[in-house]
Amino acid sequence: MSERNSRFSVVKKDGRLILRALRLVRSFAPGLMFCTLFSSLLSVVQTYLNIYLPAMILDEFSGERRLNTLIVLVSVFLGAELVLHTAQKFLNVKSSVFGKLCQLKEEMYLNQKSFSLDYPAMEDPAIRMERQTISENRGGGGLNTVVEYVNALFSSVLSIFTAVALLCEIFSCHAQTALSGFLRFADSDWALLCLGALVLVAMIHIGRITAVNGMDVYRSSLEMPQIYKVSHYYSNEYLDDASALKDVHIFGQQQTILDSFSRAFSRWTQTCIHMQNKNGKIILASSVTNALFRALTYLFVAVKTYVGAFGIGSFYKYSACISNLIQSSGQIVATIVNLHIVTTYFQLFFDYLDLPAAQQQPGAPIPDSENGAYEIEFHHVFFRYPHTDADVLEDVNLKIRSGETLAVVGVNGSGKTTLIKLMCGLYKPTKGYISLNGTDIQALDRGEYMKLFSVVFQDFKLFSFSLGFNVAASTDYDPKKAEQCLTDAGMGERLRDFYNGLETPIYKDFDINGIEISGGEAQKIAIARAIYKDGPIVVLDEPTAALDPIAEAEVYEHFNGIIKGKTAVFISHRLSSCRFCDRIVVFRRGHILQTGTHTELLSDGSGEYFRLWQAQAQYYQQEAFAQEHRQLL
Ligand code: ADP
Repeated sequence: MSERNSRFSVVKKDGRLILRALRLVRSFAPGLMFCTLFSSLLSVVQTYLNIYLPAMILDEFSGERRLNTLIVLVSVFLGAELVLHTAQKFLNVKSSVFGKLCQLKEEMYLNQKSFSLDYPAMEDPAIRMERQTISENRGGGGLNTVVEYVNALFSSVLSIFTAVALLCEIFSCHAQTALSGFLRFADSDWALLCLGALVLVAMIHIGRITAVNGMDVYRSSLEMPQIYKVSHYYSNEYLDDASALKDVHIFGQQQTILDSFSRAFSRWTQTCIHMQNKNGKIILASSVTNALFRALTYLFVAVKTYVGAFGIGSFYKYSACISNLIQSSGQIVATIVNLHIVTTYFQLFFDYLDLPAAQQQPGAPIPDSENGAYEIEFHHVFFRYPHTDADVLEDVNLKIRSGETLAVVGVNGSGKTTLIKLMCGLYKPTKGYISLNGTDIQALDRGEYMKLFSVVFQDFKLFSFSLGFNVAASTDYDPKKAEQCLTDAGMGERLRDFYNGLETPIYKDFDINGIEISGGEAQKIAIARAIYKDGPIVVLDEPTAALDPIAEAEVYEHFNGIIKGKTAVFISHRLSSCRFCDRIVVFRRGHILQTGTHTELLSDGSGEYFRLWQAQAQYYQQEAFAQEHRQLL
């Protein structure tokens, strides 16, 4: 592609993005564009009235000096100033409110988009990175910068047209007396045309310097978010995270963190200096060119005034117009560069908005079940995570019968949690399918399907809101039911310490009086949340990993109360807790190695389950022996 064609396609692409951004901004804050453009229009009118009327007043003073005319001119000038200034201030206040509204709606829009994505897309590291970059770049003003730049273009173009229109008057202003030599040339239309050509050259020169250095400043500025990311990571993950501070102190990481800050800071300084130098070049080039041409135009207008082509008022008027002309031309180029730069943000933003949303069409209803009996079956299921090249589950065939308690065991990384994610419909199998009462779950309505599951994931998350909100996963909850669920999960006694009952906030992110809870307590609240949901299928992924032995025993004591005869899938490393399950499946490297009851599996002395059981039992036997030995001593 030739350079011209490629430039043309860049302009076309920028244009499309700018129009799309403008449409979106208009839908966010319909009055923003109007207020901003109207305010600019008034500002240009005010600028030129400030030139035109004082020029007329000066001409009147140096000419006929009619008192009535002077009074009218001064009154019009002051009146226009008052009206235009007030209207502009009013519009500016409105624009800034609309601008803020636009920013908030943009953020909301982005959040809505994020939540419309399906789970794999939300978990996809590339998409998460994209979203992070968008958030970091929004600091620069977000979508409504398009209004700012379009407005700058509008006022510059308007200013240039007005200046040129006023300057055209000069063609009809000539000395009334005969001139010779330089003065004759200076008074001729040729001199004016030459000056016009020179001004054009100056504008192009400033434009080029602005464009080249502006793009360079932009390229350097791309490094900034990366630098901020490092320092933000340390601030957020280490300094602001109370649990990380323990590690920082124990492992003496203070200096390492300070060194990283310092490295980020020195990169930040270098980038800033580079940007400053480039910006300095732009400022120097435009100031020098501006000063030279201003001097030249003042000279020209001064000569015209000297030879009597026009009065002192017009001297002021024309020189101000030429100065505005040069300044507005520079601003047009700078704005075009800025618009091109900001389109990279728009591109990122729209790419994110264009990500396919999760299934929107309502799927088939959940197949009828007798007395809430749901049977889930994996049929030759294979699964591989996005951006990876190995299957995590391979040819899994498994039927989970209604009302059954199934334990899933296996070493770390064998695919147990992945099995659960697939069963809950968070991920689709790469090959094979999963059915609910005989119907492929992909055909079912996602929302309705997910309602079937009460899950406690290993890496569950509680929020810094009220305890009741956390149990019910909603602000609207039944307090009696929430309390009962907390009691069932073993939090009944601790609930008494919550000074405002279920309305007490947990953690301190929003409220200094929020209650800090331990890992075990958090796990109990997560269990209470699963009980509150009351789905017909209960999934517990390592539900007691963070609990103390008494709390763990309590959970198992209440286990039947928690699952209440529902279908239950239970992942645990503590094999003794799986003994009471109807069936146990043993996973290894994404395969089901064994299936059976505890007794059946233990009877296979060469099996994986026996090996895992022995490894744990041995530890307890040694402990028991040591204790016995200590007692004897
Ligand atoms: P388990 O629950 O048995 O410990 P998982 O199902 O969590 O095992 O993980 C199985 C394998 O899948 C592991 O090798 C893990 O690294 C990989 N894995 C888990 N989650 C992801 C993910 N989001 N992206 C890529 N790989 C993953």
